[in-house]
Amino acid sequence: MEFSGAELAQLWGELSSVKAIYFDLDDTLCAYWNASKAALHATFDQHLGDRHTPADMVNHWAETYREFAPLIKSDEWYPLYLVSGDPTRKEHMRRTIARIGLQDEALAATLSATYRFERNSRLALFSDALATLTTLHRHFPLGVMTNGPADIQREELSQLGIASFFSHFFIEGEVGVGKPDPHVFQQAELAVGLAPDEILMVGNSFGHDIRPAILAGWKTIWLRRDSDVPPSARPGTLPEMPPADGPQPTGILGELAPLTQLLAR
Ligand SMILES: [Mg+2]
Repeated sequence: MEFSGAELAQLWGELSSVKAIYFDLDDTLCAYWNASKAALHATFDQHLGDRHTPADMVNHWAETYREFAPLIKSDEWYPLYLVSGDPTRKEHMRRTIARIGLQDEALAATLSATYRFERNSRLALFSDALATLTTLHRHFPLGVMTNGPADIQREELSQLGIASFFSHFFIEGEVGVGKPDPHVFQQAELAVGLAPDEILMVGNSFGHDIRPAILAGWKTIWLRRDSDVPPSARPGTLPEMPPADGPQPTGILGELAPLTQLLAR
């Protein structure tokens, strides 16, 4: 995203009150969707490649996601999901292979474990994330605010080697509630002990990260990357579009790198 000097100066001015920064993790700091897509492909190729193309299996997985994802928040699954990603990941695989006529608990468990391993081994920071965190960490208290099971989110932070940059951790699995619930933002605000307009949220999801932060009175940087399309999206889906009306982010960036310059004082 190219800025004119005037736009840059205006955004720099609007961010001048910032004293602490919260980052979303997946697809803000690390390329989760890319790792997930490649891992699903590898998983289905390894275990069902002799009978079905990986692309067909990923489509079955995506169809299953659209039906199963809303149930993850149900009383049956949510308490399990908060602690560990394993039960719902396995159930997702069980339902996926049921679509090709297989009732096979053992295979569902194997697919789930392989997918977790393959995804983790591919998970990587965006090329500008480490430099951005290294610099900003010297000038601001940093926090991470991420949805997902406690075990998976901690595993990601540890594998990416970035946990030591953060003083505050708001992980859905540990808090018991996730973004966009205003509760998470209230607790995060208390943790840093600052006024709302002194806190900056940086995230890739308008609905989960940006809109609730704007409503909390925080400053916001919405990261919109071309790669930001989940594997569950229907073919041809484009990254989330800016809203035509309603609350607007303080700024929109296509990468993390300009943040350092925008927050330099
Ligand atoms: Mg995200």
